[in-house]
Amino acid sequence: MADKFDVIVIGAGPGGYVAAIRAAQMGLKAACIEKWIGKEGNVVHGGTCLNVGCIPSKALLEASHKFVEAKHDFDDMGIQAGDVSMDVTKMMARKDKIVKNLTGGISGLFKANGVTAIEGTGKVVSGKQVEVTDNDGNTTTYDADNIVIAAGSVPVEIPPTPLTEGLIVDSTGALEFTETPKRLGVIGAGIIGLELGSVWNRLGSEVTVLEAMDSFLPMVDTTVAKETQKLLKKQGLDIKLGARVTGSETNGEEVIVKYTDSNGEQEMTFDKLIVCVGRRPYTKGVIADGVSIELDERGFIFVDDQCRTNVPGVYAIGDCVRGPMLAHKASEEGIMVADIIAGHKAEMNYDTIPSVIYTYPEVAWVGMTEQDAKAKGIEVKTGTFPFAASGRAMANNATEGSAKIIADAETDRILGMHIVGQHAGEMIAQGVIAMEFGSSAEDLALTCYAHPTMSEAVHEAALAVDGHAIHMANRKSVNNSVSNNEAPPFKGGANFRLCLNPQRSKERGWPVLLRPFL
Ligand code: FAD
Ligand code: NAD
Repeated sequence: MADKFDVIVIGAGPGGYVAAIRAAQMGLKAACIEKWIGKEGNVVHGGTCLNVGCIPSKALLEASHKFVEAKHDFDDMGIQAGDVSMDVTKMMARKDKIVKNLTGGISGLFKANGVTAIEGTGKVVSGKQVEVTDNDGNTTTYDADNIVIAAGSVPVEIPPTPLTEGLIVDSTGALEFTETPKRLGVIGAGIIGLELGSVWNRLGSEVTVLEAMDSFLPMVDTTVAKETQKLLKKQGLDIKLGARVTGSETNGEEVIVKYTDSNGEQEMTFDKLIVCVGRRPYTKGVIADGVSIELDERGFIFVDDQCRTNVPGVYAIGDCVRGPMLAHKASEEGIMVADIIAGHKAEMNYDTIPSVIYTYPEVAWVGMTEQDAKAKGIEVKTGTFPFAASGRAMANNATEGSAKIIADAETDRILGMHIVGQHAGEMIAQGVIAMEFGSSAEDLALTCYAHPTMSEAVHEAALAVDGHAIHMANRKSVNNSVSNNEAPPFKGGANFRLCLNPQRSKERGWPVLLRPFL
């Protein structure tokens, strides 16, 4: 008789493994099923993120960035590094070692938290049962009071460019090149295209990115997106917008890509082609015929705001459900669902999920763009500060980019933060925390920042919202009042927010509300 669990999670990516660990921490008997076979032929945990996503791509981004620094930037600082070269095999071996350490670490975390790791392919056969088929084809059925589907996503393939062994590849293939291709084509100027295009561009590939849309990074504030496009172009990425790929031919050595743009039909020849046009939810084989878990029109498992499917006791999280396909979004959903199953009240603020593109410089954002706010009829005020005016950026040789804050014109509440610059991915946490606490731009403006730091640009951008930036000339006329004395409206619901500065809240008679302890 197979064990019975309080919760069984299908998939051990950042959604699933986090859900299982949190459930065990909440005192539930939890199991996590995983089928991913790693490079050494055994089942590995960590999903897309650890095996072929976030972590290996960042290992290559960091190595290739250091290579560029050593080759081009050290000299300016007086460092004579001599002839700098890249050993691609060694770079890849380092990446594989990091992946191995981290995936092995999840197994350790399962043990430490008392999560039962089950190897094989899980299938929901009823609202309370999961069947697991192991690698030898044996099946075992487990009973569970609750089931969490965290099956993730896979790359989208498009008919004009079917994948071929080693020549036309997806993101996974692009993490395994054994040498730097001379001419690299990338289809899609999305996050993967820009990150992996950057890796190989830095190592010497001539990179052309073909993007079907006419706009560049439409989800990022226009001013920051334009600046990013300019910076990437300067680095050598040839980004062709409005280029729709229509076909490809390979001769075993090269790939000829056909596309149409405003000038008509075009073609280009590459030594490798990366297809990165998005990812789709992976639900194949996860739900047995006859189990009526609903999918939406795009194939995502249909869930409510708290990740409940239409079948009681069955939840779904991460890339296989609506929302951004990001590891931290998957993990937060995992925590929320585990808490709900454990009987706690829990919810997630989908308005404050940050995004980061790990190019150099990094692009990071949270919340609304200025164009989003205007489209919604919200009157905004903005503050922007260029890193060119930052002392630390000069010392770091990192003066490219800027930080921008978008605030509600009436309440001063921060609606969005968009940054392009060195360490933007670290700095954006300030915007996330500020927005989580319902902070006004003035709250950040009146906060004491360490000097000299890159983060001072965020401080200055907050000051600039009211025309009070200190280290640049303010374009807008200075607003002499320091506060409108109005509390930003609270969103309500269970996730009460606290003004960042309780003392000031008190002085102004604002309500001080604490986030309830779960
Ligand atoms: P996954 O990580 O895809 O995990 C799903 C797991 O479920 C897999 O291990 C799969 O084997 C398993 N599974 C599926 N079906 C079954 C079954 N029937 N039985 C058992 N197991 C099953 N996101 C970021 O936030 N930051 C980044 O920097 C970033 N970089 C990325 C770079 C690349 C190249 C790629 C491809 C993605 C990147 N992402 C990044 C996205 C991130 O990897 C995903 O959003 C995240 O992994 C989703 O987590 P998940 O748990 O929902 O799914
Ligand atoms: P994406 O959705 O970010 O970008 C795909 C791009 O391809 C879009 O700009 C789209 O217009 C373009 N495109 C689609 N079809 C095309 C065609 N036929 N010809 C030319 N262009 C075409 O998708 P992605 O870059 O593949 O990334 C997939 C997911 O992985 C994203 O949702 C992202 O959230 C996640 N991811 C995140 C990170 C990160 O957080 N740093 C890194 C990598 C991946």
